[in-house]
Amino acid sequence: MGDLAQSVGSLVALVTQGDSRVAPSRRAFVCPKTRQDETCDGRLHYSVIDDGDSRPCPLDRYRAVRAELADALELAGYSKGRNPLADPVHQVLLAKWSETNRGGLKTDYTGPGEALHRAHELAGMGFGSGYHLLMHGGKGLGKTRIGLALLFWALWDGKRACRVSWADLVKVANGQSSFDGEAQKAAELTIDRWRKQTLILFDDLGTLDERENERAFATLGSFLDNYSGQIVATTNLRGATGGDAFIRAQDRLMATREIKGVRLKAVAVAFDGPSQRRV
Ligand SMILES: [Zn+2]
Repeated sequence: MGDLAQSVGSLVALVTQGDSRVAPSRRAFVCPKTRQDETCDGRLHYSVIDDGDSRPCPLDRYRAVRAELADALELAGYSKGRNPLADPVHQVLLAKWSETNRGGLKTDYTGPGEALHRAHELAGMGFGSGYHLLMHGGKGLGKTRIGLALLFWALWDGKRACRVSWADLVKVANGQSSFDGEAQKAAELTIDRWRKQTLILFDDLGTLDERENERAFATLGSFLDNYSGQIVATTNLRGATGGDAFIRAQDRLMATREIKGVRLKAVAVAFDGPSQRRV
C-alpha cells in the first residue's frame, strides 16, 4: 500500500511538473475569448463544428492597440515582455495601482481611491454606457495609468476604443486650419475614426503654449458636440491655467450626457498629491 501511495504520489508530482512546464508556453497562444467550439489563430475564431465558419477575434483590436501603445504602457507600469492575453493590461495596471497606494504614500488624499472606485463603476455600467470621467492634477500621480487601464478594459470587453494624445489632437487641429487640401482631408478622416469609437481616452490635455491650447481645445470642443461615445480624459491644467479655450472644452466635457434616455452627469476627480496635503 505504501508503495502504491508513493507511486501515485510521484505520478501526481510528475503530472504537476509536466503541467507547469507546458502551461506558460501554451498559455501564450490560448485566446481567453474562445468559445468551447472554437479555435483562435490570433486574428480569427474558427468553428470546429461548422467547417469554414469564422468570426474576428474579439481581442484583435486589444492586441493591436497594445502593440501601438507599448511604450506608453511600459511607462505606466506594464512591461513590454508581458503577454497581454495571460496578464490583461487593465488588471495589471489597476493591481499595481492598489499596491502603490497600499504603501501609504498616497492614501492621504482622495484622488486615487476615488478614481479606482470610478474605474470599477464604469466597467460595471458597461463601457460606452457610463458617464464621462475627467482626472486632473499634478504629473506623476497615476492619472494616465488609470486612463490606460480603462482604455484596455474597454478593448478587453470587445469595445472600440482608442487613445488620443495631445500631439494627435494638435495635428488634427493644424490639419483643419491648414491650406493644404491633403492635410485637411487627413484631419477629417481622423475625426471620422474618432467618432466611431465607443470610448476615447484623451490623455494629458493641454500645454503651456496658449495659442496651441486655443487651437487644439477648439477642435476638441467641436468634436465633443458631435460625439455620442464615452470620454475618459486626463489633464494637469486646472481652471484658468489652460486659458479660455480649455475652460470651454472642459465645460463641454463636463456637460451632462444623455444616453438611452438616461442623463449622466460627468465626474471630475482631483489628484492633488501629497505635496498639497496639510503639514
Ligand atoms: Zn481570439
